[in-house]
Amino acid sequence: MDAATMTKPAVLILLGPPGAGKGTQARMLEEKFGLVQLSTGDLLRAAVAASTEAGKAAKAVMEAGKLVSDEIVVNILRDRLAQPDCARGVILDGFPRTTVQAGALDALLAESGQGINAAINLEVDDAAMVTRISGRFTCGDCGEGYHDTFKAPVVAGTCDKCGSTNMKRRADDNAETVASRLVAYHEQTAPLIAYYKARDVLKSIDAMGDIDTIAADLAAIVKQATA
Ligand code: ADP
Ligand code: ADP
Ligand code: ZN
Repeated sequence: MDAATMTKPAVLILLGPPGAGKGTQARMLEEKFGLVQLSTGDLLRAAVAASTEAGKAAKAVMEAGKLVSDEIVVNILRDRLAQPDCARGVILDGFPRTTVQAGALDALLAESGQGINAAINLEVDDAAMVTRISGRFTCGDCGEGYHDTFKAPVVAGTCDKCGSTNMKRRADDNAETVASRLVAYHEQTAPLIAYYKARDVLKSIDAMGDIDTIAADLAAIVKQATA
């Protein structure tokens, strides 16, 4: 197959407020479609844990529930996108979060002749998002996400996927920080809905239902957008 007939890797964006279920759905899409989940939140938490320069600059901002600078986040994403596994196609989870980031992504993709297949907006109301975030925990070993009420492990405290008992709660998943994250979402990220609508790649799904119903709706959209 020559370069001209080769299919370009798919680029899907999951939009939605914190706690909408982006990470949960992105992991399911990874399994179903062989795509790679790129979560800037996960990449930033790794940078904080490793005490890199970017991590040191991001730490306090994340703890306050504000957005990390576009420059730091775009650099982190650019490096990750350049890794070979991304040729399988990517699901961007939590990026872009500002119109500056969206412009930077367009420029980055244009360099390799790629474009956005779909930006899928998970619609949830603010109250549901607070309930989802306040019960969230994650397996510290394999990254599987859980919820006290909505997605409890089969055996309490033990990861269904890998058997680990190393469960973690995020420092920023507290009521006070959630309020700031919600403000940041409405002021800086929600305008991306119009941004992608204007580019004709916006899809919206009702994300108030249960995890499996949303996953089925999402899979149908992804199938169509990557056909
Ligand atoms: P995001 O990545 O958008 O911040 P997560 O995927 O981490 O959101 O989900 C937030 C929390 O809500 C997690 O604890 C997750 O298990 C739970 N959750 C995800 N989707 C749903 C859903 N459809 N209904 C109820 N809880 C959900
Ligand atoms: P959520 O569950 O709220 O969607 P994430 O894990 O995506 O959380 O992000 C956690 C924090 O990391 C955010 O509150 C913000 O401080 C920072 N962050 C993640 N992605 C970005 C981004 N694209 N731009 C700026 N800050 C980001
Ligand atoms: Zn696990």
